[in-house]
Amino acid sequence: MQRSVLIIDAISTRRIHMRAQLDTAAYPVDLADTQTEGLALIRKDPPDVVFIADDLPGLRLRQFCKTLRGNTQTQFTTVVVAVRSENQSARVSALVDGAHDVIDMNSDGVDLKARVRSFMRTSGQSEGWYRQPQTQAVTGLAEAVPEFAPKTVASFVARDSEIWFAKILSDVSAASGIDIRPTSAQLARRNPDVESDVYILLETGSDDGTRDTLVALRSHPTSRDSRILFVTDCPSQIASPLDLGADDQVPTTITATELRLRIDRLARRKRDADRKRKETTELAQKAYVDALTGLSNRTAMEEYLLRMDHALTAQPRAVAMMIADVDHFKAINDNHGHAAGDVILAQLARTMRSKLRDGDFIARYGGEEFLIVLPNVEAEQAHDVALRLRDAVADNPIALNASTHVRATISIGLAVAHRNDRMSTTDLQRAADNALYSAKRNGRNRIDIALLANSHERPLGRTHGEQ
Ligand code: GH3
Ligand code: MG
Ligand code: MG
Repeated sequence: MQRSVLIIDAISTRRIHMRAQLDTAAYPVDLADTQTEGLALIRKDPPDVVFIADDLPGLRLRQFCKTLRGNTQTQFTTVVVAVRSENQSARVSALVDGAHDVIDMNSDGVDLKARVRSFMRTSGQSEGWYRQPQTQAVTGLAEAVPEFAPKTVASFVARDSEIWFAKILSDVSAASGIDIRPTSAQLARRNPDVESDVYILLETGSDDGTRDTLVALRSHPTSRDSRILFVTDCPSQIASPLDLGADDQVPTTITATELRLRIDRLARRKRDADRKRKETTELAQKAYVDALTGLSNRTAMEEYLLRMDHALTAQPRAVAMMIADVDHFKAINDNHGHAAGDVILAQLARTMRSKLRDGDFIARYGGEEFLIVLPNVEAEQAHDVALRLRDAVADNPIALNASTHVRATISIGLAVAHRNDRMSTTDLQRAADNALYSAKRNGRNRIDIALLANSHERPLGRTHGEQ
């Protein structure tokens, strides 16, 4: 996907200067000289990043940001306001109005390019921008769930000589309640604080280790998901802090108010990202789990069998497969109701799972059908396991209420491949299915064993009789 930048500024020399500073080889850069023209260009071809001058005649920044966020085409577009460097209050009000970031009107090319790369990397991760559709997709709720904002924790990594900055941070803490924890670079690198949402790193002229600390924090498992705010009075070095993994970069002249806004925003982004990761994990889990029984579902089974086929090709080994099917389950439903049938299925699943070992696999892959795989198991042992399953089910009637117990039974088709058989899981499944069919035909509540076409040993004979 082509990524692009739009610059909106009424002063043509500044527009052209900024474009010259950007990496125009990497991103096409469009220019506009009014808000109206800018919005028209945005509508036509939404850019990834919009730079807008804060002295643009008639600019209503809050409305501008709201318009972009309200449109699905532009909800992830990054809005950056260019402000004169001495204008501290304009920096703060731009952030309050909804801008993603504020840069100096006279930013040099190195800083500007690093920032654009960083915006492109994190585009779509802005605080709260994706939250609403995400929440609705997951929960089906019409309204977004109100956010419970926990207290933000920020670690301040400093040297003794940099304690002057702690004064600014204590103002931040007093005004916002952000819990700011001073720590040494050595401690932060070795043992990062697991509760820290944000790390504040301070680099002053004499300092040469802060960027190493940045890289160390970015790669440490405890801190890699935290946000890093890099405060520096020497931004232009060969590698920008933003390219080294910082999420934000500000000068040491930053005011307490702006610092608070930026820490808050970084902490929100961190929490959003944490929540998104959690939702993604939960969604993935749901996609693989059968809701009624908690066993693997058909999707999980198909992926497992695919992996098993690869493993068998790479390293042939014995494998046993069983298909278990509840006997006369339709009659159980008819006699006790579908809800009771569900309770019985869930209990049967628990019983079977409890009789298997950790490395075994069991899935509910159809209504009352279960597939079980025992890796590295030979025929005799597999047959013992099948008997154990059958008996555990048959010997434990399921209580529907104080007076009603249902004795369910299962039939099992078993197929076992010796390591020399080189069978695929599809072959095994077909064989187990045939054996199940004969177990049903031969009276149910029994195990029949498949005769494998190319089997090297047949210890238990043809679709083997009852026990
Ligand atoms: P057999 O011994 O030959 O397997 O007989 P059966 O009655 O178990 O087999 P049949 O395939 O005729 O019926 C299976 C029944 O399982 C029919 C279907 O309504 C029921 N069933 C499938 N999925 C569920 C479910 O999730 N919950 C409940 N309660 N019943 C289900
Ligand atoms: Mg069935
Ligand atoms: Mg059945």
